[in-house]
Amino acid sequence: MSFKNEYRIVKTNRRKINPTLIVGAVIVLLVCFAVMAVLGAFSGKGEDVSSLAPVSSAVNAITLASSEESSSEASTSSVTTSAPSTTSSKVQTSSVASVKPSTSSKASSVTTSSAPQIEANVPNGDWRLVIANKQYPLPESYKINVTYLPNGYRLDSRIVDAYNSMIAGAKEDGITLKIISGFRTYQGQTTLFNNKVNKYLNQGYSREKAKELAAQYVAPPGTSEHLTGLAVDLISTNWYNYNSDLNSGFEKTKEFEWLYNNCAEYGFVLRYPKDKEVITGYSYEPWHYRYVGIEAAKEIMSNKICLEEYVERFN
Ligand SMILES: [Zn+2]
Repeated sequence: MSFKNEYRIVKTNRRKINPTLIVGAVIVLLVCFAVMAVLGAFSGKGEDVSSLAPVSSAVNAITLASSEESSSEASTSSVTTSAPSTTSSKVQTSSVASVKPSTSSKASSVTTSSAPQIEANVPNGDWRLVIANKQYPLPESYKINVTYLPNGYRLDSRIVDAYNSMIAGAKEDGITLKIISGFRTYQGQTTLFNNKVNKYLNQGYSREKAKELAAQYVAPPGTSEHLTGLAVDLISTNWYNYNSDLNSGFEKTKEFEWLYNNCAEYGFVLRYPKDKEVITGYSYEPWHYRYVGIEAAKEIMSNKICLEEYVERFN
């Protein structure tokens, strides 16, 4: 058989096979696209959904998305891998409206290893005094056990009783406090910070300036107290509903007045006072309270000092 003939045969064969191959290839491609689309949809959903842990605040969290504290929990819970497995799976697959906070009193370990540099953040070796600020950022390896509150927010398990006592004490005095942020993960804080930076970049600021501006309101990764699980953002429901952003106007509410006068009784302090911005590195936040233990709290609040000033004695 000459080369020409051979070529013809092959060519003929090809002509016969081609339609089948094309149809087959098209089917394979369609199947691949379908699989990719399904996978893409699921992973996308998982990220979105897991970013809205507490049901009760889901709507408000959206309205306050530009502020530091409100979007807080939103990004935090991208870490649902460290949450109890039942919750995690629920969050990954359900829609926003049906995301349920996990049951209370379930503790879970959040990060894994400790590092020597953590010692610098813990004055006198007292975990209640742990410092997380711009000067002493917490390493990503800082480890705590968190407990889920019934509303889905998380706190360091060791302060849950003190927190519950404070909320109950307020209620006895006719004050209803609403928590809008608790424990945040390192990754969540990173997302939160980057979102804020992007907001300023979109307004035309340089990257350096955008970071500087963002840091005024959102703690850069490692520098947020919410990483410690010892900080809570508390406001009044009423005020929350009528304000589109967290601002110092909260100090005019009776809820703030109660918190300011009573938080120390339960071991909490106003962490970022108005006149300590140079020391704390953060703007006045009348909604942000930090557990330090009753003894330290009373001394800090009665002397109107900030945590950094209090722990100086241990340096
Ligand atoms: Zn806060």
